[in-house]
Amino acid sequence: MAKSEYTYVRDFERPDNLLPSTWLVVRIDGQGFSNFTKNHQFTKPNDIRALHLMNRAAKMVMESMVEIVLAYGESDEYSFVFSKKAKAYDRRASKIATLLVSKFTAAYVFYWSEFFADTPLKELPAFDGRVVEYPSDRIMRDYLCWRQVDCHINNMYNTCFWLLVNQGGMSQQDAEKRLKGTFAKDKHELLFSEFGVNYNNEPEIFKKGSVLLRSLVPIDMTDKDGNSIVREKKVVQIEHCDIIRDRFWREHPGILG
Ligand code: ATP
Ligand code: ATP
Ligand code: MG
Ligand code: MG
Ligand code: MG
Ligand code: MG
Ligand code: MG
Repeated sequence: MAKSEYTYVRDFERPDNLLPSTWLVVRIDGQGFSNFTKNHQFTKPNDIRALHLMNRAAKMVMESMVEIVLAYGESDEYSFVFSKKAKAYDRRASKIATLLVSKFTAAYVFYWSEFFADTPLKELPAFDGRVVEYPSDRIMRDYLCWRQVDCHINNMYNTCFWLLVNQGGMSQQDAEKRLKGTFAKDKHELLFSEFGVNYNNEPEIFKKGSVLLRSLVPIDMTDKDGNSIVREKKVVQIEHCDIIRDRFWREHPGILG
């Protein structure tokens, strides 16, 4: 950068490097998506096109920021977990969060028409972002448990709510009253006895959210002499699995490193 008598103003910029050797988690969340989803006629409670679009944008982010080891998405939010060893942008919080959020938002707009072929974008989607340091594996895992439990609780509530409204003919206010103070057991019972719905058979992507991971997959290639060979390549893959229990972490030992 060129030097001048004005260069001193740079000293007003404060460092915001995050602690070394901690997990960094960036969570982004759609701004005003209660309105955005209405404006674009999302299916309630779960518009599958919108979930796939979120996943597509998150995959693009993960492919462009190689130190992300795992990402978890539900509703209008996504959490990106950076390795404890991540060095990107000298771990500067504002650089990491703003770049991630702008990449995600750009991808959301870029891929919109692939998932919403018949619905033009009527307003500009926006996402907020924050970055948090987690000092131990246990706390980082508890963070992910927190988000997956949130997904579960909200999805169960929303599934009941929209069945009461759309199939039960209730007003939104009455549906809210009907669900007030109910426990999971009551909601399972309501779904089954009033609508013949077994909650356990609902799609995994709704119940568990989406998990993006890097896995080695065999790729068929041709070598320089024209022979077919198989090489392993790291690609971002998606699952809709439980990330709370130990099993997930045993099956993916590479994440904790
Ligand atoms: P960083 O990620 O560190 O910002 P950078 O490559 O974006 O890396 P900058 O210092 O921001 O580096 O420089 C921006 C570059 O883009 C310069 O090379 C500049 O000449 C070029 N650039 C920006 N705007 C224009 C423009 N309107 N026309 C031509 N070149 C441009
Ligand atoms: P804020 O700006 O504070 O985040 P918000 O309106 O986005 O406000 P959230 O708590 O983030 O509030 O809620 C997201 C909203 O978007 C919820 O109403 C949720 O049901 C809706 N939503 C998100 N994804 C989908 C989807 N795939 N299908 C249908 N509705 C969705
Ligand atoms: Mg510049
Ligand atoms: Mg919010
Ligand atoms: Mg939101
Ligand atoms: Mg949200
Ligand atoms: Mg630049």
